[in-house]
Amino acid sequence: MLLLRNVDTFTPAPAGRTDILIAGERIIRVEPGLRVLDGFCDVVDASGLVAVPGFIDGHVHMMGGGGEGGYATRTPELALSDAIRGGVTTLVGCLGTDGVTRSGEGLLAKARALDDEGLSTFIYTGHYSVPVQTITGSIERDLLLIDKVIGVGEVALSDHRSTQPTFDEFARVAAEARRGGILSGKAGVVNVHMGDGPRGLSLLRRIIAETEIPVTQFLPTHINRNPTLFEEGIAYAKAGGLVDFTTSTVPAFLAQGEVKSSTGLRRMLDAGVNIAHITFTSDGQGSLPDFDAQGQLRRLEIGRVTSLFAEVRDAVQQDGVPFETALQVITSNPARILKLKGKGQIVAGADADLVLLDAATLAITGTIARGRWLMRDGELLVKGTFE
Ligand code: ZN
Repeated sequence: MLLLRNVDTFTPAPAGRTDILIAGERIIRVEPGLRVLDGFCDVVDASGLVAVPGFIDGHVHMMGGGGEGGYATRTPELALSDAIRGGVTTLVGCLGTDGVTRSGEGLLAKARALDDEGLSTFIYTGHYSVPVQTITGSIERDLLLIDKVIGVGEVALSDHRSTQPTFDEFARVAAEARRGGILSGKAGVVNVHMGDGPRGLSLLRRIIAETEIPVTQFLPTHINRNPTLFEEGIAYAKAGGLVDFTTSTVPAFLAQGEVKSSTGLRRMLDAGVNIAHITFTSDGQGSLPDFDAQGQLRRLEIGRVTSLFAEVRDAVQQDGVPFETALQVITSNPARILKLKGKGQIVAGADADLVLLDAATLAITGTIARGRWLMRDGELLVKGTFE
């Protein structure tokens, strides 16, 4: 058992100074002045610290991705320590452009490896392509038969790397994801990679208008990648849609018009978007390819899971978003949208995934995942198997 005493707690709603009692992998009490028997509990004075739910990163190329500049540009797998330093305790893995040298089977194995190393993981089946390449033969079978599969993605639209699915083809993907989700009690979300193309969200809007599939079946990501898509995203979210920001970036992208996630969050809230419709993900380990107007690759960087909370912190410290509001986009919102039971909240009965922050700077000083200290007082206690 572990007792954190006098910690300023955000569940993510502000709960004031309280104690948090953990037994095994679960939070069992959240209230001030808890009394425990000596010798049965590791008691930690956490005054001066802020406790928040462990972060959920819903779009991570955990087994590597990229390759868009040739084989040498395939990106490496996620290192456990990156997730720990970034306070990310739950990850959803996905494949990207490459569905040949990367596979769903490999992604599933990497997700299981990160579980064994102490985190909680889920995956999307498929990659950019339609028809969707699955593990067991269909989207529904993957959702029903593989516990870790919670949806489909990232399917690419409005992008030169997309398989350019037709209305019928894309509607079929969403329908199978919806039915598989219903039958398995999972979200069955379609995670949609949005490219820079002028068609933007038009195919999504058509499917929502012309079929019975609800708007909440789709989670379009990279919504902040250019000013036009961002503005379209505001209208889409105000009409009930979900939108996901990508926090990993490079200065060149921002100079070309990408909307910095922290600022974009402020702008969406100012425009009247309900916070419940917004999530952030890092696109960690994904390549950040910079293509010129002719589609030629200019340079390549790599996404980082540590960008996830960095943008939330910037939203608070630079863009004036209330802390408890900004926190939702990486905790309670993805937990609800992706139906991740026990995740994204500090309440009795939830999984003991916690991040501790310095109250003055909001720097991450501690990470607890499934009841176990992975980082404490700024010191990394656990590393990946080969780190
Ligand atoms: Zn993508």
